[in-house]
Amino acid sequence: MQNNTIVCPIHLENQATYICQNESCIEKRLYCHTCFQSNKHFINPNKHLVIDRLSDILEESRNDCDRLVQYIETAFQDIIQFKKYLVQAIRRKYYIQLEQFNTIDLESKCQILDNLIKFKEDSKIIEQVLDYPFKSIIYHIQDGIKQVRLEQVTYLQQISEQELQQFQTYLNESQELIQFNRIDQSLEKVDRALLINPRNLDALNLKGNILMKLHRLNEAFQQFNLALQIDEFHIKSMLSLGFYYIQTNQREKAMQQFIRVAEIDIGNQIALDQVNQL
Ligand SMILES: [Zn+2]
Ligand SMILES: [Zn+2]
Repeated sequence: MQNNTIVCPIHLENQATYICQNESCIEKRLYCHTCFQSNKHFINPNKHLVIDRLSDILEESRNDCDRLVQYIETAFQDIIQFKKYLVQAIRRKYYIQLEQFNTIDLESKCQILDNLIKFKEDSKIIEQVLDYPFKSIIYHIQDGIKQVRLEQVTYLQQISEQELQQFQTYLNESQELIQFNRIDQSLEKVDRALLINPRNLDALNLKGNILMKLHRLNEAFQQFNLALQIDEFHIKSMLSLGFYYIQTNQREKAMQQFIRVAEIDIGNQIALDQVNQL
């Protein structure tokens, strides 16, 4: 059996013989006879599988995964259908070639011109109603699934070369936009970058700084902490957190934060300057 090579993570000398499927268990999921004898996983004996069933677990999850993806596809299908309808209807109403125009009866000619003259107003209405709900729907979904922590996967490198390039482009664009003080657009770009690579520390830190500029301080604080949870010594995010403390009048914490940076990244000039000023 290919599973025979897995050893118990607690007793490395033993082969792992079981998989604990008890959801609330905080022990390692793989365990051996010695673990079993010390009652480590004995809360719910029905939720334990022999390790030979590993391939069943993987297969079942893959099936569940397919089902979920299918559900998402269906959920978005309505939006895609509606988009098709919208594009068609708009083109039919406002997109008229001169040759077509010439062949149409007089009554319709007047109607077309009336429609085209009102088009600028109409298009403003359409843009306005689309912009807000779509953005808020995405935020709503992102917020709702936060606890699932989709971004915390480290066991497979699943970002393709192409996605990585796209990520870098969004990140650069976001940085440029912020220099031109186009903060909202900058936020949009960094959000796109983070959809591709949610654990990138520079992107997380950049988003935090953008949120600071928008005075969305609580969210900025969360971003910096997200980055620091991944790497507690990420200097840029440590500095940003310091500036967050200044911004929120927490002088003492700011001081400690910059001292900490200067200790870890010896002689960090930004940190030293802040320590002197505080
Ligand atoms: Zn063990
Ligand atoms: Zn257990």
